[in-house]
Amino acid sequence: MTKLNLNKISNYYLKKIGFDKKYKFKARICEICNSKENELIQKKISIGNKKFLDFPIVVCKKCGFVFQAIKYEKKFYKDFYGKMYRKIAYKNIDPSKAFINRQKIRAKHFYNFMRSNFKLKKNGSMLDVGCSVGEFLRPFMRIGWNCFGNDPDKSFVEYGRKSLKLPIKYEMAEDMSFKSKFDLSIIIGSLEHCFDPNKVLNKIYKYSNKDAKILISGRGIPRSSNKIYFNHNHHRYFSYNSLELILMKHGFKPIFSTIYPITGNADERKNEIFCLAVKYPKYRGKLKEILKYSKIETVKTVQYFFKNSENRKTKHYIF
Ligand SMILES: [Zn+2]
Repeated sequence: MTKLNLNKISNYYLKKIGFDKKYKFKARICEICNSKENELIQKKISIGNKKFLDFPIVVCKKCGFVFQAIKYEKKFYKDFYGKMYRKIAYKNIDPSKAFINRQKIRAKHFYNFMRSNFKLKKNGSMLDVGCSVGEFLRPFMRIGWNCFGNDPDKSFVEYGRKSLKLPIKYEMAEDMSFKSKFDLSIIIGSLEHCFDPNKVLNKIYKYSNKDAKILISGRGIPRSSNKIYFNHNHHRYFSYNSLELILMKHGFKPIFSTIYPITGNADERKNEIFCLAVKYPKYRGKLKEILKYSKIETVKTVQYFFKNSENRKTKHYIF
């Protein structure tokens, strides 16, 4: 177990990112395998404007999952995403036209990808978790699908509902509930951000029809050499292995994992990896067996990727 003075790190960190209040926190255990055993892999993260702060990232000794060592109480993340995120990320509360257009283009790419590779059923249904303004739903709505999205970013959701007339809701994915089930769920670049990925995937399983598909994307290791990749918003860092493992744990069978840009070749999303999976109840509750025979990374293999990524070229990244 890495010995770090998390209290001191947290106090300093909160102050520096502009929170006067103190929030409770815990040392995060591995969200995939529940192990408490981990090793420090990186000391600092980016807080924007070429500034870096101590905020430890660790790697699980049992399964190789990489995550932030500090997990705050839920309220902190709600406050953060509700108020701070867009201000820090884009210095603007409302989405820009360019942002919306980019999302529309990405949605079109995704729809075309799905349509050309799978038979999309009539009157299907779709859920977008962490939907932002919700444009990913539109191409599927056009073919008569019943669509729904949610996001913890209040101003973006309000914009999507009022100005774009999209069926989305301001809520944390952990709190979602529905009267019907879905044929396709997508989590595009937001499983890294959510409070409890297990709760989110549990709910998606519960609200998935038989043979329903799920697509998850995130910035991948080691492909992401973007300096600000290691920042506050990414509570965890997925690889092909860990994406597949967490999906299997929750009763989904990976169909394939790829760096192919399913949502188009946008510059700012260069390092995105994707995993497409299908509901597969046999895997559910079988994590022990799955861990025994597949999908394990070791501290050494993860460290190797980290050390050989372009991030290492800057002195801010210190083991
Ligand atoms: Zn683990």
